[in-house]
Amino acid sequence: MHRFFVGYVIESDQVIIDNINDVNHIKRALRVQINEKLEICDAASQEYVVTVEAMDDQIVCKVLEKREVSRESHVLVDLYQGLAKGSKMETIVQKSVELGVHNIYPLSTKRVIVKLDAKGQKKKIERWQKIADEAAKQSKRSHIPEVKPMLAIKDLAGLVSDYDLVLIAYELESSRSLKNHLTDDKKKVAIVIGPEGGFEAEEVDALVDAGGHSVSLGPRILRTETAGITMLSIIQYAIGDISK
Ligand code: SAM
Repeated sequence: MHRFFVGYVIESDQVIIDNINDVNHIKRALRVQINEKLEICDAASQEYVVTVEAMDDQIVCKVLEKREVSRESHVLVDLYQGLAKGSKMETIVQKSVELGVHNIYPLSTKRVIVKLDAKGQKKKIERWQKIADEAAKQSKRSHIPEVKPMLAIKDLAGLVSDYDLVLIAYELESSRSLKNHLTDDKKKVAIVIGPEGGFEAEEVDALVDAGGHSVSLGPRILRTETAGITMLSIIQYAIGDISK
């Protein structure tokens, strides 16, 4: 069954899809027919099965059932990802959405190799958001993670206090404390991953001084596209919704 998101909370048994891209996709690409069923997620992350009643410049649907299912983790995890080269960011976005990430913040750090001007950043973020939308549909999420505007790591220190826990995966960190930080009281977590070239020590120090924790992901050096996915998986297993 095809899955779509509406940006409002469904409060009646009628659902209107009016997003022009979705309307065209439903009519032209998917060639959905009247009386065909669709899965709809609303802005309250509720999931419904609807049937298509009319199609014009909007798709008018009728609710058949509301599904009592939650596919969103009770732990909100934001990924701050050092900007990686080539298509790695696409892999990182896709896999982190499947693993329940809340929002993704591309991070510019001293050792980031990719240089993007404002126009280039806008284009890349639009591309990554499209990947996030597709991954959210494929993994049947009820929330579409947002790929946020590029953030300079120096500005991240000011955001640390917004979280219950900020974990910086640091390749030179020797203490294996990740497990100790993952306690059930942590509901809003940020994970910070360096680019291919890793972090400068002072970048990590600034985040630790602001209240973050530098942690090791073990004795091997993981690729940047592996590190965030690994950390997200561990968090969802330890305190998130993979093992609960
Ligand atoms: N250039 C670095 C070096 O050669 O040591 C490696 C950087 S690694 C490819 C990219 C990022 O993945 C790191 O900045 C860190 O965030 C994360 N990472 C990789 N392996 C890690 C480990 N064993 N412990 C903690 N973080 C790790």
